[in-house]
Amino acid sequence: MLDFPLNKIKGIGPKRAELFAKLRVFSAFDLLFRLPRDYMDYSKATPVCQLVDGQNAAVQVRICGAPRIFRMKGTTVLTVSAQDETGKLSLKWFNQPYRSAQLNIGEIIFACGRVVRKNGLAIMNPSIGLNLPGILPVYATVKGLNQNAWRSSMLSAMEYVWDGIGDPLPRSILERYGLVSLSLAIRHAHFPVSREALELARKRLDFENALLYFTLLELQKADRVRQNGFAFDTSGVLGKYRSKLMFSLTQSQLRVMEEIASDMRKPSPMNRLLQGDVGSGKTAVAIFALCVAAANGKQGAFLVPTEILAEQHYQTLQGIFGTSVVLLKGGMRKSQRDEALMRIKDGTALVTVGTHALLSEEVRFHDLGLIITDEQHRFGVRQRAAMLEKGARPDMLVMSATPIPRTLSLILYGDLDLSVIDELPPDRKPVKTSIIPQNKRADMYRYLAKQALEGIQSFIVCPVIEESETVDLPSVDTLFSQLKREIPQTRLAKLHGGMKESEKERVMRAFRAGEIDALVTTTVIEVGVHVPNACIMVVEGADRFGLSQLHQLRGRVGRSARQAYCFLLSGTQNGPENERLKTMTQTSDGFEIAQKDLLLRGPGDFIGTRQHGDSGANGILQTLDVKTLEQAGNAAREILANPGEEGERLIELASERFTLSISDIAMN
Ligand code: ADP
Ligand code: MG
Repeated sequence: MLDFPLNKIKGIGPKRAELFAKLRVFSAFDLLFRLPRDYMDYSKATPVCQLVDGQNAAVQVRICGAPRIFRMKGTTVLTVSAQDETGKLSLKWFNQPYRSAQLNIGEIIFACGRVVRKNGLAIMNPSIGLNLPGILPVYATVKGLNQNAWRSSMLSAMEYVWDGIGDPLPRSILERYGLVSLSLAIRHAHFPVSREALELARKRLDFENALLYFTLLELQKADRVRQNGFAFDTSGVLGKYRSKLMFSLTQSQLRVMEEIASDMRKPSPMNRLLQGDVGSGKTAVAIFALCVAAANGKQGAFLVPTEILAEQHYQTLQGIFGTSVVLLKGGMRKSQRDEALMRIKDGTALVTVGTHALLSEEVRFHDLGLIITDEQHRFGVRQRAAMLEKGARPDMLVMSATPIPRTLSLILYGDLDLSVIDELPPDRKPVKTSIIPQNKRADMYRYLAKQALEGIQSFIVCPVIEESETVDLPSVDTLFSQLKREIPQTRLAKLHGGMKESEKERVMRAFRAGEIDALVTTTVIEVGVHVPNACIMVVEGADRFGLSQLHQLRGRVGRSARQAYCFLLSGTQNGPENERLKTMTQTSDGFEIAQKDLLLRGPGDFIGTRQHGDSGANGILQTLDVKTLEQAGNAAREILANPGEEGERLIELASERFTLSISDIAMN
């Protein structure tokens, strides 16, 4: 029932189905679990005098003039004035002249849309009616598929599959934790009758997701505890490694290396989480662990989330391991790939660094003793498990630069021992961070251009690649063309996940070589990219990012002794979002920032599968609070203690939901 194909649903023709397919929505199920990106709350009318520029709002107004139509640059503009007791405004439509017939002087109507305060107050392209539409969902979409199409398709889909939706959660769990049924949750997640209903719906969906996630985590943990692995000999490794380094290790690095060495000496497999702020030198620690493995004739695998990062680590590792390092990533030529696979299999590859390509079944190791995953929060539990299966009870080191608040890390990584690097290499200066108001924006880019002439490089991060019709966000494409005009002497290049791999690599290499002054990019550069000469980080639409994400981005600069700057541009002037951004100017302590993020945005940003696994219901851990997470963890343990039929079904569902296909993980 749930895999009911889209084109069989009333109102979804082949054209629309094709557009949905672009978003990888193929069935009624896919559709129902594609939750709104946002909501527009038109459940009550705002007095005209309280309208805020840029927001979506509903007003109840009396039409107080005759509609006027005029032409402007090929567009038909229809305007009418309207008012309530608190003020006047105009309603404006573009290319919808027929609407004038619906506007009668003296009539009282509801109008809903985007408020613009420019040459007077107006609502743009409002929908109008005699009733309030309530809370409307807004979906992430593609060109040609507008929000109305989404909404009507969703409503049809609900009619078709309603009986088949069932509920994977046992009734006892629903009752104990006060959760609504799956069908109600889905309905209200799309078309909530109230804010409260919406909250209950999302809580239920989040809870289910978290429960399944913890079920897998617990299973995996139980599995690992029972095993016995390899006891490494670590003697002499540290001394040799230190002699190869260009710097002296910090006390913190030395401490965690000893913690790792002590784990590796034991026969039981290491399960350790290494946390350290951006730039704290985790890679150096990871390489030490790889040295231990190599010294014992065991292979090590270094799993990283992006190809750019894989390239970068590959270069670093060659400096230590020479030709015994192999790189494996998507988009390699077949001959190259075959050679890499062969060397991994025959064991001549002592160290393999790679992206998700490493998870592929084809990758077989000769004798895999150690797995390191960088920026683990980007990988799902399933992926950890897939990797572990490639060796005979290998040691595992998980690294994370997202400082995870202690409470949360206990829940999410409860199965791992924790090591923390809590100091930065000595020569680092904190990055000077400021929030740039829109009227200083041009000045800031001029400054950036001037710095470029002195050889100082910049990153300019945008929230999206291309402009879209639904969200008004700075995009890489638009900004790139704009800056080309405004600062023509600056050598600019684009870098984003939509580009071909070879192209990305070429750009990154040129940037590293100093042939490009500024990269206009997305968060692809968020993780791990290391270019010491880049000292300016500009974030456009900074209010769209989580603080921890901003902290990660900021960590890309300030990697040398030179003073670095981070400029945050916010879409709104004085909104609460800017209050949040202020935290960034006040501290550079990743843990403090993470704590604040957790408070303000909930734990979604810390949970891996969310960002990339947008198949099915994975995209929803966002609103979850820590208490719910704890409850879900308890529920998982409870079910596993005594699984029964229902438990088995949950386990199955868990493995399905947290399996990410490789395309899910492609960079944004
Ligand atoms: P992380 O992965 O924790 O963000 P990296 O391992 O990429 O940080 O380290 C950032 C930079 O600092 C690298 O260029 C690395 O060579 C350098 N580095 C690491 N440890 C030290 C140290 N103890 N002293 C000086 N530089 C260091
Ligand atoms: Mg790193």
